[in-house]
Amino acid sequence: MADTKQLYQEVILDHNRKPRNWGTLPDATHRAEGHNPLCGDHITLTLRLREDTVEAVNVQGESCAICKASASMMTTTVKGKTRTDAEQLIQEFRDMATGKLDAARPNHLGRLTVFAGVRDLPTRVKCAILPWHTLHAAFNAVASTTTEADADPMHEQIIGGAG
Ligand code: ZN
Repeated sequence: MADTKQLYQEVILDHNRKPRNWGTLPDATHRAEGHNPLCGDHITLTLRLREDTVEAVNVQGESCAICKASASMMTTTVKGKTRTDAEQLIQEFRDMATGKLDAARPNHLGRLTVFAGVRDLPTRVKCAILPWHTLHAAFNAVASTTTEADADPMHEQIIGGAG
């Protein structure tokens, strides 16, 4: 437990010191803004898709440490993945952050599991999820999204679709 907490802190610090893929892509094919009014996080995500593969993804904006670290790790994780694989990661990350991830089923989160602890910190859950939420919005050509407005249509939709 202490190790998990220490790793979490190291990851957050590292990605805040050197956020990966931080900035705006000049040749983006998709773009979305994400707001988390609860904390004040406000990010812009730009994405370049080629033949359904995420060729590049950048994030920029004003955000707290958790949101920034989550965004930074998200960009490195989904880069080179297909949209389908990225959407699966979005769902898994959201399920993990909200404590709904089924531990019996394998997942693809890898190092992203350092964020599992946010499920016990309700005010930070939305900070960690915002970049993923914004990525989903960008894929679906939704220009602007907030962690408040949509309650969870995406989640319901995925769960509903899975039967
Ligand atoms: Zn935040």
